Amino acid sequence: MGGMRFDVFTLFPETLRPYLEVSILKKAAERGLIEIALHNIRDWARDKHHTTDDLPYGGGGGMVMKPEPVFEAVESVLGSPPSCPVILLTPQGRVFTQRVAQELAQHEHLALLCGRYEGIDERVRRHLVTDEISIGDYVLTGGELPALVVIDAVSRLLPGVLGDPDGAYDDSHASGLLEYPHYTRPPEFRGWRVPEVLLSGNHAEIARWRREQSLLRTLERRPDLLKSAPLTEADLAFLRNAARERGLTLPPLPEPSHEEQHDE
Ligand code: SAM
Repeated sequence: MGGMRFDVFTLFPETLRPYLEVSILKKAAERGLIEIALHNIRDWARDKHHTTDDLPYGGGGGMVMKPEPVFEAVESVLGSPPSCPVILLTPQGRVFTQRVAQELAQHEHLALLCGRYEGIDERVRRHLVTDEISIGDYVLTGGELPALVVIDAVSRLLPGVLGDPDGAYDDSHASGLLEYPHYTRPPEFRGWRVPEVLLSGNHAEIARWRREQSLLRTLERRPDLLKSAPLTEADLAFLRNAARERGLTLPPLPEPSHEEQHDE
């Protein structure tokens, strides 16, 4: 089996290329772990001016992407009906989270459809698209950045893409919590020292410190996440104490999970 394939349909393929051609995504493509094909919807516009957009029925400002070139582009690459999920990037879609990235990473093949202008003719959404994703509650000029966001977040979850096999394990949101802080050399910079425990070489102590930092950060910045994070009895005791010391209110917390903690 080859790597995961992404087919991206856009009016501006050149906007995606530079991001895909550096660092981890470039290496993943070179190693065959991902394959990304960029398709210019304009290549499927049949009239002599290669028109891909038109005025909205009913009036109002802006332009709307026409359905014919979009259908023809997607169907000529992926067949009819398309052989993989067709995801429309739209501020009206379900909000993209790490959990959605994990779900999408289970597929071998995804198509990403990028809108521009006022968006795409509604018949595309109703009759071609199978999923709709928003990267957040704000409006961008096009779906290209959102498509890159999805490709990036999904690709780094695929086996072998990150050098460190556990690299994505502790990341913020992967475990339901925000990640602990990172330090690198030098041990002291402008008088600011790296926490002693990290220099101690005591792996159990380091793992405990990281877990506690992760819990503290989540408590202080995103207490809403604690409601669905898998927490042990020790985590709950630590959180109750930390909240009391800081005068913070804990949200209603889940029953403790008895899952093994991940050791460093
Ligand atoms: N008129 C549309 C609306 O109100 O829903 C917004 C169109 S937006 C200016 C143009 C394109 O950018 C959209 O078709 C979509 O592909 C993309 N886009 C903008 N914001 C987005 C977001 N938050 N998430 C995903 N795609 C987005």
